[in-house]
Amino acid sequence: MSSSIDKLLKILKLEAELGYENRAVVGGLDKFLPVWESEARTANLNSELIEIVSEKIHTYRDLDTEGRADLLKELRGVLRNAQPALPVQPPTISPRPALERPQPPAYPKAPPKPAQEPEENTPEPADEPPSAGAQVPAQSRRSKPAPTHFAETSQTPGLNAPLTVLNGIGPKNAQILKALELNTLEDLLYYFPRRYDDYSQLKPINHLLYNEEVTVLGMIQSIAVRPVRGGQTSLTEAVLSDGTSFLRLTWFNQPWLTQRLREGIQIVVSGKIDMYLGRLVMNSPDWELVEQEHLHTNRIVPVYGLAARITQRWLRKIMYQTVAFWAARIPEYLPATVRDAAGLVDLATAITQAHFPDSQEALKAARARLAFDEIFFLQLGVLRQKRAWQANSAQVFETDPEWLALHLAALPYALTNAQQRVLSEIQQDLVRGRPMNRLLQGDVGSGKTVVAAMAVATVTRHGAQAALLAPTSILAEQHFRGLSNLLGEAQGEDLSAALQPGEIRLLIGDTPEAEKREIREALANGTIKFIIGTHALLEDPVTFQRLQLVVVDEQHRFGVGQRATMRAKGENPHLLVMTATPIPRSLALTVYGDLDLSVMDEMPVGRMPVDTHVIHPVERERAYHLIENQVSAGHQVFIIYPLIEKGENNDEGKAAVDEHARLQAKVFPKLKLGLLHGRMRADDKDVVMKRFRDREYDILVSTSVVEVGVDIPNATVMLIEGADHFGLAQLHQFRGRVGRGSAQSFCLLIPGTENAVENNRLAVMEETNDGFVLAERDLQQRGPGEFLGTRQSGYSELRMANLMDIFTIEKARQQAQALFERDPELSDPENLALARSFRRFWGIGRGDVS
Ligand code: ADP
Ligand code: MG
Repeated sequence: MSSSIDKLLKILKLEAELGYENRAVVGGLDKFLPVWESEARTANLNSELIEIVSEKIHTYRDLDTEGRADLLKELRGVLRNAQPALPVQPPTISPRPALERPQPPAYPKAPPKPAQEPEENTPEPADEPPSAGAQVPAQSRRSKPAPTHFAETSQTPGLNAPLTVLNGIGPKNAQILKALELNTLEDLLYYFPRRYDDYSQLKPINHLLYNEEVTVLGMIQSIAVRPVRGGQTSLTEAVLSDGTSFLRLTWFNQPWLTQRLREGIQIVVSGKIDMYLGRLVMNSPDWELVEQEHLHTNRIVPVYGLAARITQRWLRKIMYQTVAFWAARIPEYLPATVRDAAGLVDLATAITQAHFPDSQEALKAARARLAFDEIFFLQLGVLRQKRAWQANSAQVFETDPEWLALHLAALPYALTNAQQRVLSEIQQDLVRGRPMNRLLQGDVGSGKTVVAAMAVATVTRHGAQAALLAPTSILAEQHFRGLSNLLGEAQGEDLSAALQPGEIRLLIGDTPEAEKREIREALANGTIKFIIGTHALLEDPVTFQRLQLVVVDEQHRFGVGQRATMRAKGENPHLLVMTATPIPRSLALTVYGDLDLSVMDEMPVGRMPVDTHVIHPVERERAYHLIENQVSAGHQVFIIYPLIEKGENNDEGKAAVDEHARLQAKVFPKLKLGLLHGRMRADDKDVVMKRFRDREYDILVSTSVVEVGVDIPNATVMLIEGADHFGLAQLHQFRGRVGRGSAQSFCLLIPGTENAVENNRLAVMEETNDGFVLAERDLQQRGPGEFLGTRQSGYSELRMANLMDIFTIEKARQQAQALFERDPELSDPENLALARSFRRFWGIGRGDVS
């Protein structure tokens, strides 16, 4: 078996072992793709296989655990069956005339049947490109009403029809299309192109400009491979000509290209025009063999994602046939009022143009409409969720202003304005008679805990119970100590403690069984007023007498189900979830629109910003120097690596295990180094963290597992190797681990690459300490994956929408709100079609988005 297949299989296996948390590769499985793809191509792996693998893995982060497990299983099957080094299919020339529009669309070979009807027993046609089938003139498509058997039912059951109703698709082809999750006509209509080749905008080579992104069509004049860098890599060079001039093309490490791109072959290449020795050149362009049928079409051609045994051309034909006939038959579900108000094209046009656009403008309008719909459905879902939540009644907890003032006065510091604001938002929530459902966002160190503590005290003062859920036992312990001080100690003569000893307790996995039993009893009979704990709190035997407030710290570490479990232990308890990951506004509106948002955008005074530097790998010695000095001054240091162990391939970044050994032996032989990584058991991780906290280690070498809010005020240096592997928001989280004490702290970022663009990206870390700024940048550069956390239902449905497109988001939100106010149940006749599409978008039984 090819080693690249083998390697990927290993990673997938590890991912499965790690519980599908997308942690086998730092930053997510898809971060591994660029490396893997180039290896796989070098190994001459079937390029369609590469494409499938890559596409699948790109969807991985958006799936829930079950979806991920399925996908990995499927992928592993595909990979195991893959034959390496398949000879590439020679392009076949279509015997059919060019697919030009308007062309008579093929009718389906049989009227679609409702799903429950037994399938008629048609003999399987050969798996061949679809024949033309029965045809009608194109003009009649729109003007003539649909045949009666469609028109009779407003529900258009035809769209649920299996693909076998299409010409040229028998059970065999239908099975093949299943690999793309295409089962029904509707699936097909919503399977949008991955990209488009704009043959209408082809530029002659003699008109190309430096730095421009273009698509060029031409004929290969010559092609050759030569070794470079002492034979370590190879460079394939081709010369493309279109009769007006010549363009040089280069590819690194793809020697197999010479087998596919022979002299005289016509191809289209897309990429950026660069300059080399005064001549224009395109480096590593995307390319595709020219399909004769498009040569004369002068149009924008869709390019679809493929799976094994599906060719671009075949799929495009099926698409064409389907779209031409069926797009117009999808019922328009958006009420005209909404469409007009938002300035959107109708659905049939949108779907048609999204597949086979007449122009770039038409394509843009189509995408705008489809993107709007997706966000609109998300917003409706979120609003419905909020409404359902608010239909419950909850207990009222008044805050006595005098009591609060005394408590606050007893704190060793004054609350920041942001803390005060959030605290009063929470107080208002608690007297509304409806359960609070609030997300508190605040950068690391912004002081969320004390705000939560005041909420807890407000509730426990009235005799009710509160619980705080933390993702790790070290964090739970930290909270227990901090909150016991804050709430459990009498503060002066005027003020008795908010909680008596015994009323505040800690429950973690390590709690001895006897104590656990005693705690459970005290929770059930109400003796314990405030419990702090980990997942142990979620266990079945834990019940409460009167749980009225649930606080979840680092909420992205918990799944929807876990929060629901905790909530279910009380009767409509108030919920406060906290996160240190700043979420850009556009995302917060869509993703967390059902929660009320509080933002703590202000740091306590007197915090020294962490001194941050991006340094070159060659300057590493300087970093080691700084570390030594800091340790001699009694401080501690974090060193972060992007991987656990080094892969076979050295350029994958340094790995924590190896580097820990090297640093201990060669660099810091006199210091004590601890090691922490994600493959360790949770208890072992905790032990290492505790030892570090207790200063048994000077340096903690770790992978990204160190992220969560542990407070080690004595740590002053955060060194991050392979910093280019991480998102800015994540780097910012790492940085938040230092600068928690009074001493000046440092954050050193060492990129694993000399790539200037990458290093520019990192330089933003030097410029700002503002988590929101960094989060926005991350969203622009890396997309929303990192912010979604476990909140993924509905988001896998986003194909067109861009969660950074604040304009569309605002528009869709406005419209959704207006519609929701008019008709919350979507029961008006004009909204019936919408209601149906809405239910389909959210899927059955996937309603909980909280
Ligand atoms: P986070 O928001 O990251 O959870 P914490 O609640 O752990 O932050 O607070 C970080 C540190 O800041 C704690 O040591 C806390 O005592 C301190 N702190 C909180 N609020 C203030 C304030 N208003 N002024 C000064 N220090 C504060
Ligand atoms: Mg915290």
